[in-house]
Amino acid sequence: MRLTAEQDADIAAARAARAETRRPTVAALEELLFTPLPVLDHGFLRVIDYMGDDGAIVQAARVSYGRGTRRVSEDSGLISYLMRHRHSTPFEMCEIKYHVKLPIFVARQWIRHRTANVNEYSARYSILDREFYLPAPEHLAAQSATNRQGRGAVLEGTEAARVLDLLREDATRSYDHYLDMLNEDTAEAPRDPARAGLARELARMNLTLNTYTQWYWKTDLHNLLHFLSLRADPHAQHEIRVYADAMLETVRAWVPAAYQAFLEYRLGAVTLSAGMVAALRRMLAGETVGQAESGLTKREWTEFAASLGLPGSSG
Ligand SMILES: Cc1cc2nc3c(=O)[nH]c(=O)nc-3n(C[C@H](O)[C@H](O)[C@H](O)COP(=O)(O)OP(=O)(O)OC[C@H]3O[C@@H](n4cnc5c(N)ncnc54)[C@H](O)[C@@H]3O)c2cc1C
Repeated sequence: MRLTAEQDADIAAARAARAETRRPTVAALEELLFTPLPVLDHGFLRVIDYMGDDGAIVQAARVSYGRGTRRVSEDSGLISYLMRHRHSTPFEMCEIKYHVKLPIFVARQWIRHRTANVNEYSARYSILDREFYLPAPEHLAAQSATNRQGRGAVLEGTEAARVLDLLREDATRSYDHYLDMLNEDTAEAPRDPARAGLARELARMNLTLNTYTQWYWKTDLHNLLHFLSLRADPHAQHEIRVYADAMLETVRAWVPAAYQAFLEYRLGAVTLSAGMVAALRRMLAGETVGQAESGLTKREWTEFAASLGLPGSSG
């Protein structure tokens, strides 16, 4: 994460400012406000604004006139109940806005989540920074042999070094050609006064997908938790999961009761199909049930065994 002195000063000024408000605020999130949380090698995530707190969820669920005087334990109990029973609209009363700097290939996964408001840095208008994501050695893994959307063992030795060299060289060369076609340097001065330079909206197509972009991303708590249930999941790609993990930290600070309910009833929960429940019932009744007797496919059985941590499963 590299910020210019000017960007650092802007953040410091934003953090120093104070505004009087009648709205409820959350001290732990106020503490994080505007501060970039580093993610990957050059990325970050920071909270720009938010609306609501755990109390707003409860208030909406009860359609009450004020903040109410119930005990924290009662409010947490209600939030847990709402989460357990997928009574989701009270969670939509809380909103949060992030500023995220992320590689383009991560942004492509992220943008599939349609229930958010997004405004991205315009590479038609501005020149993208010379910043590329290069995986740390421990994340430079081979293709998984069992999961087409997953990774296997970490690459080692000369193969790892060669891959890193290729990634760095290709990104650097593409970026150099990008500036060359623009006929601009990073300070936006013309390199060769005799050349017109290609339009920014065209030159950008030459950049590699590990180039960093930035956006403001605003969503409500219900949709944020849906995003996190998919992207903070161990099956999500590491490069988006680290952003989800940083967001989880902000959710913990912002709405601690909703966060705990989310961990309990969504992130840490498993879904069993009707066939899996039937197999589990037979097992609990003392029957020895294997994949062949269960009626589940091999893949379903593997998922079932992993989610219950059955002997021999890798879950
Ligand atoms: C592990 C993993 C692997 C994936 N692999 C692929 C892949 O190979 N190829 C691929 O293309 N995508 C892939 N995706 C993306 C995935 O299919 C979804 O597009 C993405 O996760 C966004 O989910 P969503 O639509 O639920 O979220 P959002 O867009 O935020 O929507 C939230 C919810 O709102 C509702 N909703 C929103 N818009 C509509 C609509 N227009 N119509 C009806 N309901 C709507 C739905 O209930 C939806 O679940 C993958 C995602 C994950 C997590």
